[in-house]
Amino acid sequence: MTAVQGITVAVAREAAPGERRVAATPETCKKLTALGAQVRVQRGAGLAAGFTDDAYASAGAQLAEDAADTLGQADLVLCVQPQASTLSQLKQGAVVVGMLAPQADPARGEAIGARQLIAFPLELLPRTTRAQAMDILSSQAGMAGYKATLIAAQLAPRFFPMLTTAAGTIRPSKVLIVGAGVAGLQAIATAKRLGAQVEGFDVRPETREQIESLGGKFLDLGVSAAGEGGYARQLTDEERALQQQRLADHLKTVDVIVCTAAVPGRPAPKIITAAMVAGMKPGSVIVDLAAETGGNCELTRPGETVDSGSGVAIAGPLNLASMGAVHASEMYARNLLNFVSLFVKDGAIAFDWNDELLAKTVWPRHDDAPGAAAANAPQRAG
Ligand code: NAD
Repeated sequence: MTAVQGITVAVAREAAPGERRVAATPETCKKLTALGAQVRVQRGAGLAAGFTDDAYASAGAQLAEDAADTLGQADLVLCVQPQASTLSQLKQGAVVVGMLAPQADPARGEAIGARQLIAFPLELLPRTTRAQAMDILSSQAGMAGYKATLIAAQLAPRFFPMLTTAAGTIRPSKVLIVGAGVAGLQAIATAKRLGAQVEGFDVRPETREQIESLGGKFLDLGVSAAGEGGYARQLTDEERALQQQRLADHLKTVDVIVCTAAVPGRPAPKIITAAMVAGMKPGSVIVDLAAETGGNCELTRPGETVDSGSGVAIAGPLNLASMGAVHASEMYARNLLNFVSLFVKDGAIAFDWNDELLAKTVWPRHDDAPGAAAANAPQRAG
């Protein structure tokens, strides 16, 4: 164990385009202060998420003018998705926690290395029961799934619920959610609340019960891809062909598709082909939440809404969690507070590298047993 006393925790305004979330709320600032930390927040850091400077000041935070002033002397920096230029402003050996994705962005990885930061990319956190309260993938996916269904409802040229009106009866929309992980299940729940007829489709058979418990119908295409640790494995070529033929036939009957399928560490599986889209009814809508990693639909263009040419609208929205910045930030900030509570105590930073949540999340990653990771883990300077 190594320790630093009287630490400063810093939260700067997010600089990535379109990022509205903030890594600490007034509520979590108060709790960080109770852990003995001095919290510094850049003016305006929480505004896009609805948190004013006054609210942070009332919660005990010091306000700083710019990013350099906020970050320069911080021992611990909390962030959402920092740019490499932000990481370069941190002091040598500082601790940084957030969606750092160092492998996805080499510049960020290099900045972490150059400043010898002790980095915790929280997307690497093991998804154990103990880690649930720190699981940013789950909390942010919940918001993304919710928003994806609302975008679909907005784009669809029809009602979602069944309506009995003086002008006749309106049939409910048929909504299919592809991928029933955290985002998919929230998308199903949201579509159901809007009154649609909802189906869920996933290659993991255990999702049947989860889909049904939300009032959805499990779309059984007769192909299972149950993998290790609760995640999906890649399908074989034959399995994929069978799945696709059956899916193509089924898609001719649906009005709305929300795609959320993912395989960790890989590009999104291409599930909906251009030919399948051509077979869909004009006026149908596809919202591809997997656009971030390439999309589940062949025709998805990340960040755009396009027409298939046959009257099907295909949206590939990015960073959906940021659209719900208030609640997404509240959940994200609590996830971070719970994580840093593993090593911030009595105003000091002290890492127990035998704790697998620390040893397996620190980057560069240590895939060895926690004991072996302790030997490899970086030592805190100072
Ligand atoms: P994810 O975002 O990696 O994937 C989303 C879904 O896509 C998954 O359900 C996956 O099975 C599905 N999928 C992959 N390939 C597909 C294909 N070709 N066709 C259809 N669907 C496909 O997953 P996630 O939402 O981050 O989490 C998935 C699961 O992980 C959860 O449902 C849960 O079982 C587990 N999990 C556990 C914990 C925990 O214990 N702390 C926390 C979160 C998630």
